[in-house]
Amino acid sequence: MSYCVFWMRRDLRLEDNAGLYYALSSGFAVIPFFVFDRNILAKLDDVEDRRVNFIYNRLAYIKKQLKELGSDLLIASGDPVEEWGALINQFNISSVYWNRDYESYALQRDGHVRNMLAQRGIDVHTFKDHVLFEKEDLTKADGRPYTVFTPFLRKAYEKLGYMPSRPDMPLKIKAFPSDDHLNKLWKERQKPIPSLGSLGFQVQKCPEVIPELSPVRMKAYAENRDIPSIEGTTQIGIHLRFGTLSIRSAARKAAKYSPVLLSELLWRDFYSMILQAFPRVETKPFRLEFEGIEWENDPVKFDAWCKGCTGFPMVDAGMRQLNASGFMHNRLRMLTASFLVKHLLVDWRWGEAYFASKLLDYDLASNIGGWQWAAGCGTDAAPYFRIFSPDAQQQRFDPQFTYVRKWVPEYGTSRYPAPIVHHAFARDRFLRLAKAAFNKDN
Ligand SMILES: Cc1cc2nc3c(=O)[nH]c(=O)nc-3n(C[C@H](O)[C@H](O)[C@H](O)COP(=O)(O)OP(=O)(O)OC[C@H]3O[C@@H](n4cnc5c(N)ncnc54)[C@H](O)[C@@H]3O)c2cc1C
Repeated sequence: MSYCVFWMRRDLRLEDNAGLYYALSSGFAVIPFFVFDRNILAKLDDVEDRRVNFIYNRLAYIKKQLKELGSDLLIASGDPVEEWGALINQFNISSVYWNRDYESYALQRDGHVRNMLAQRGIDVHTFKDHVLFEKEDLTKADGRPYTVFTPFLRKAYEKLGYMPSRPDMPLKIKAFPSDDHLNKLWKERQKPIPSLGSLGFQVQKCPEVIPELSPVRMKAYAENRDIPSIEGTTQIGIHLRFGTLSIRSAARKAAKYSPVLLSELLWRDFYSMILQAFPRVETKPFRLEFEGIEWENDPVKFDAWCKGCTGFPMVDAGMRQLNASGFMHNRLRMLTASFLVKHLLVDWRWGEAYFASKLLDYDLASNIGGWQWAAGCGTDAAPYFRIFSPDAQQQRFDPQFTYVRKWVPEYGTSRYPAPIVHHAFARDRFLRLAKAAFNKDN
């Protein structure tokens, strides 16, 4: 008996899944396969990492769904190339399907797996699923990638057939009704899922239910999204990150009820496209002149920032929300990132790595994009000399200190630290250093 395999990775759902849909249309019984990637897990030094828990719980859920249909999800753990080697020795596999991932490690890993499968005469078919647009789908007239968001957005709207004045018009997005064809799955029972302990992690609480994108919530999004003390944003980041929610279904709903939310979803596509077109941004600033800045990189100040003890209440509240919950409101991501780079003169890569270790919705492309934007070295025109004042941000977005008091209860008492740096001094210092760096290369 010949099979085809669908390799599940950042697309942990059975519905509206492009790769799964095409696998199920192949004519062969489909084996869904997942590998806990040892190379990725080994880099996570927190045994309580909630993202591993999130993936684990979701796989257990999918396994249960499949068992109810008389099928199963095959789960391995180890090095993906080795695990694929073992799989093709176990089954007669004619073809393999997966959805594309654009991060450098994933590209390399997928290349190795693809080569190995090609040597055994097995076809590989890959699909766009994680984003609405890939690099080639949306380019400037000369074929080059957009590097500024607003024209990118305009073009994206055009391609989607989206008109904010006509929200009732359906978006031009293809649907992949994979869940209508689950009878094409293989019908064997497999071993139970390996325990979290055997993978080196402890059981933790983590978000499981996908937040409802209700019309009421989405209609209020534009007004509420900038107020950190209320739940004004959707909190769907982790679900888009691991594909428990399809970006296509999120975009369709947003288009109907909230143009602002649709444009935010397109920021995610924009940053993914930047990473695809300029892979160097994974480690280097888009504006290379920024490399000329001499960072202070004081580990004591960095530690105070990580712990939320800088003496700037809004910054501290953001960092404490991150440390305690794995989430940080976007307004605070912008402020804390800017503060680390511009006030404390710490290399943006330190902060980017810290966010990567803590954010449940950590996504390489969006995190890099957000950090480079906040630092002033990214694609957008946001100039390096626009420096957030923590006090002004406080006045504007949390004037009653509601958010601050929630996360920094000792604020206003003698236990709260004095400011770690003087705002005006830090501002002038950064401007001087950044100007020098930018002028040197000009
Ligand atoms: C320094 C910095 C680091 C960031 N790191 C990440 C990250 O690792 N992962 C991540 O998903 N987002 C990141 N963002 C973008 C944004 O802060 C989060 O997407 C958002 O706060 C997630 O909460 P939400 O789902 O409630 O967002 P909502 O406001 O409800 O937005 C819905 C979805 O739209 C997308 N989105 C919204 N804003 C942005 C944006 N500016 N850039 C890219 N996508 C966006 C996200 O997928 C988000 O889940 C970062 C922003 C900054 C300034």
